[in-house]
Amino acid sequence: MAEPRIVVCVKVVPKPEEVRVNPETRLLDRASARAEINPPDMNALELALSLKDRYGGTVEILTMGPPYFEPTLRVGLAMGADCITLLSDRAFGGADTLATTYTLTQGIRKLGAVDLVICGEESSDGATGQVPQGLAEWLDWPQLTLLTAIELDLKTRAARGRRSIHGGYELLEVPLPCVVSVKSACNEPRFMDYRLKAKAAEAQRFTVWNAEALGTDPQYTGQAGSPTIVSGLAEASTRERRREKITGTPEEIARALAKVIKESI
Ligand SMILES: Cc1cc2nc3c(=O)[nH]c(=O)nc-3n(C[C@H](O)[C@H](O)[C@H](O)COP(=O)(O)OP(=O)(O)OC[C@H]3O[C@@H](n4cnc5c(N)ncnc54)[C@H](O)[C@@H]3O)c2cc1C
Repeated sequence: MAEPRIVVCVKVVPKPEEVRVNPETRLLDRASARAEINPPDMNALELALSLKDRYGGTVEILTMGPPYFEPTLRVGLAMGADCITLLSDRAFGGADTLATTYTLTQGIRKLGAVDLVICGEESSDGATGQVPQGLAEWLDWPQLTLLTAIELDLKTRAARGRRSIHGGYELLEVPLPCVVSVKSACNEPRFMDYRLKAKAAEAQRFTVWNAEALGTDPQYTGQAGSPTIVSGLAEASTRERRREKITGTPEEIARALAKVIKESI
């Protein structure tokens, strides 16, 4: 087999501490927060780049979202990815995991002969962890989930993955092409390489495909293709913590504190 062609699905997410929910639409108001690459997708990208270091080939980033994600995504090029494909169209807006995975699958099909699709474990905003499995279903490819390590056998066209389980680990093998999800924090994502800065800015490394280019069926994309309904929205209440101020001399405070601890254990 020639050198592997690897696609990493990367989601751009709002920084969690800045995100708000629109009470009227019941959707996340993503535009109001600064964007970053979904942290678990940095682990997916690192795994893909380490495969490229070992076996050669290419690492391509695939993502669905609005055009203003571009500068955030280019960080992946500065880490060593070869190119980015952004699937962007108003028709894709309001997608649940079913519609998202359909649209990403159309992107993977249009890319052509891909050997491996690598995803993060889950997104920091939606956090369903359903996208990798959804992709495998649409593509009808085998999947290896929550891997901490992977190696390829290019002769037999197989992927071998390691997954941690309680008290040990499993070794799993599937034929290529396959879909993989990567356990969060299983590796240390590399820093951007400033020698790649010029490459990361090259216009031809960033491609946008809309619904027409992808040939998506409108009944499967966006809100029309999303059977999920957000029926209500409630703010989680914060409980007032019980507190008591202890005063007195250091000895009195220590005695009072010891009494409280003794009573509570
Ligand atoms: C009713 C409803 C309406 C929604 N409306 C909107 C909306 O208007 N706008 C909006 O942005 N979101 C919307 N969402 C959220 C959207 O459905 C999810 O962001 C999307 O389905 C991905 O699911 P997730 O975030 O749970 O990903 P997970 O399954 O938790 O992610 C796992 C991995 O899949 C990959 N992945 C996930 N999403 C993407 C992506 N977009 N591109 C590339 N790779 C990806 C990444 O590798 C990620 O680590 C809506 C969700 C629902 C339920």
